Amino acid sequence: MRMRAYLSLALLSIAVTAAMACAPRYVTSKAMELAGMASPAAGVTRNVVLVSIDGLRPDAINHFKASTLQRLIREGSSSMTARTIMPSTTLPSHTSMLTGEPPDEHGVFWNNVQTAEREHVGVSTVFGVARKAGYRTAAFFSKAKFGALQQPGTLDYSQAPGGWWGRWPSTRTVADVRTHLQTEKPNLLFVHLSDPDRAGHSSGWMSAEYGRAVIDADLAVKNLMQAADTAYGAGNYSLLVTADHGGHGYGHGSSTLEDVTIPWIAWGRGVTAGVIDEKIDTFDTAPTVLWLLGVDQPDAWDGDAIVEAFAPVAAATD
Ligand SMILES: [Zn+2]
Repeated sequence: MRMRAYLSLALLSIAVTAAMACAPRYVTSKAMELAGMASPAAGVTRNVVLVSIDGLRPDAINHFKASTLQRLIREGSSSMTARTIMPSTTLPSHTSMLTGEPPDEHGVFWNNVQTAEREHVGVSTVFGVARKAGYRTAAFFSKAKFGALQQPGTLDYSQAPGGWWGRWPSTRTVADVRTHLQTEKPNLLFVHLSDPDRAGHSSGWMSAEYGRAVIDADLAVKNLMQAADTAYGAGNYSLLVTADHGGHGYGHGSSTLEDVTIPWIAWGRGVTAGVIDEKIDTFDTAPTVLWLLGVDQPDAWDGDAIVEAFAPVAAATD
């Protein structure tokens, strides 16, 4: 009898864990208590949209004629020789992008859905620092493993698919962003698009299928910009587009140039047109976001803001 009770309990606990793992995670934070808090000092802009296209190789943009990204490069400031970290895998790399720290500092070397022991990354994210300064933050993740970056209290709104290998296509993610922007105006909006990585693993990087996925992501950026124009006002936000890693053959993760070279594009408010000469590491992205918003980066961060991409503009007021 006792054995059966233990067995039922064990089965119940497996079922509950499985159900939790399968459900998408929609996380909202309690509104910040802003009474008595000065509104954030003006930076270059009050609104930053950061897009990461999973597995996008810089040379794919022209090869597959991704017209929106080509436009952003033409009108904005960009580098096609930015570098991601080692291992050039999704979660360690995005953690560097969003924490301003290399893996030795942030400690995220794993690339799967979290276990209870290491539920969230243990260092400050760009979301937490910006929110503490009084900015509203939102993140739309397209893979389940990003749950590690949904730190409590750092994001006014965030979402990630459930399941061990949960993934949403960019059409789904951007539709959700559009709905969100109809009622909310986060000052820092992060959007992760997953399509090129999926196609790279199934059909090979730079294959025809990969090319179709790059075009899907390109179209998603276009749709996202339309929604951002409506929400923030055209010309009233800065847009950064980058990637977590490239790829070759059917994978990535190594230190070969095809895996570690990523695009880094700035466009919109305060951006000067041109090619960025500075050497860019992916962990310079979070410092750049904070610098744009006029927020000091934590002392511990290794990255530096890529100020070369921007010109002084009149103080941002909304
Ligand atoms: Zn990835």
